[in-house]
Amino acid sequence: MTKMSRLVQARRLEGIDKNVWLEFVKLAATYPSVNLGQGFPDFPPPDFVKEAFMKAIGGGNIMLHQYTRAFGHPALVTILARFFGKLLGQELDPLTNVLVTVGAYEALFCCFQALVDEGDEVIIIEPFFDCYEPMVKMAGGTSVFVQLRPKAAETGKLMSSGDWQLDPAELASRFTERTKAIVLNSPNNPLGKVFTREEMEFIADLCVKHDVLCFSDEVYEWLVYDGKEHIRIASLPGMWDRTITIGSAGKTFSTTGWKVGWTLGPDHLLKHLRTVHQNSVYHCPTAAQEALAQAFQREFDSYGKPDSYFVQLSQELQQKRDWLVRSLVAGGMKPIVPEGTYFLMADFSEFKSEVPDVPDSDEPYDSRFIKWMIINKGLVAIPVSAFYSTPHKRNFDHLIRFCFAKEEATLKAAEDILQQWSLEKTGQ
Ligand code: PMP
Repeated sequence: MTKMSRLVQARRLEGIDKNVWLEFVKLAATYPSVNLGQGFPDFPPPDFVKEAFMKAIGGGNIMLHQYTRAFGHPALVTILARFFGKLLGQELDPLTNVLVTVGAYEALFCCFQALVDEGDEVIIIEPFFDCYEPMVKMAGGTSVFVQLRPKAAETGKLMSSGDWQLDPAELASRFTERTKAIVLNSPNNPLGKVFTREEMEFIADLCVKHDVLCFSDEVYEWLVYDGKEHIRIASLPGMWDRTITIGSAGKTFSTTGWKVGWTLGPDHLLKHLRTVHQNSVYHCPTAAQEALAQAFQREFDSYGKPDSYFVQLSQELQQKRDWLVRSLVAGGMKPIVPEGTYFLMADFSEFKSEVPDVPDSDEPYDSRFIKWMIINKGLVAIPVSAFYSTPHKRNFDHLIRFCFAKEEATLKAAEDILQQWSLEKTGQ
């Protein structure tokens, strides 16, 4: 065994074997429950997307069942270059400025593996999509955290994700000579914050000043509410050459199971991502890429018009957001109204008497609370502590994340649970 101990070591994986999704997806499947946990729609993708997929697999082109170009199916990279070239104000070469990946997950993985080395620091804004930190570690780098801090909401108003802001001096202090990259996720999962142009410009100026890369995770780019604007940091001065923009067809067309994502960026960065991709995943599913090429073409033609899926999806999701906000308020929780994404965080402090805290436990309180809620109330959410680094997990464990990309029956079932719970609590 002494000999074996060296063989079974995996230094870069130490401490990152636990994963919130494995645990809570299993719980949601084990107990009869209304699942507002993991982020996926329980409604179907639009008909034109499904039809395009069926045509891809059932049409006459039998080559769509075989490997396609390793760095992206030609039809898909062509339309992605046209579409995003227009939005970024940048001419994109489909062959060198676009890389198709297995979801945004692989896109992120390629960024870190390709461009982060031993000794490099990567700045991550908390709360953050949880895989960033282990991905930095697997690449040999070190994560450096900076927190979005909530300021008090206006009296009588619910807090908004926009009330959570970075302290400019604190952010600036995180940039050192070892900083290789900053990860920016706007709209942000789990908070739903949509970074303003001023906030983005401040981050961009720091990147330029300190010669730092930006990995911009924009998977929720179309899910922005109340007339807010999604700013693409790659379009700001000095940023194209140092930014990798990441997107996901899962979020864009409500097809998370298709696992198609992409990166956009300058060739001098993407060439390294292509090396990681070609030596790990190599090809992405052909038929799904063909279908998404057709779907993007349709969206290109109807861009900004009322029949655009992107326009309709955000309108529908805004209504669902408002519904869940109302249900939570009526039930006694304090939701933080998100400006984007299909998530919201809610403060459940009023419910603390239901589940006693165990201060010395390794498990943050929000995680224990949700387990109790799943078993006793049949409602699934995700603990917000999962989106914080270890030293900060306890500071925000009075918050839980709900997903509202759900059909009416699911949102109604959640509303009923919350209403019933509130009645029981007030003894009525
Ligand atoms: N980034 C963020 C912020 C996400 O929320 C997700 C999915 N939950 C991903 C990346 C991964 O997306 P995909 O499903 O396309 O791999």
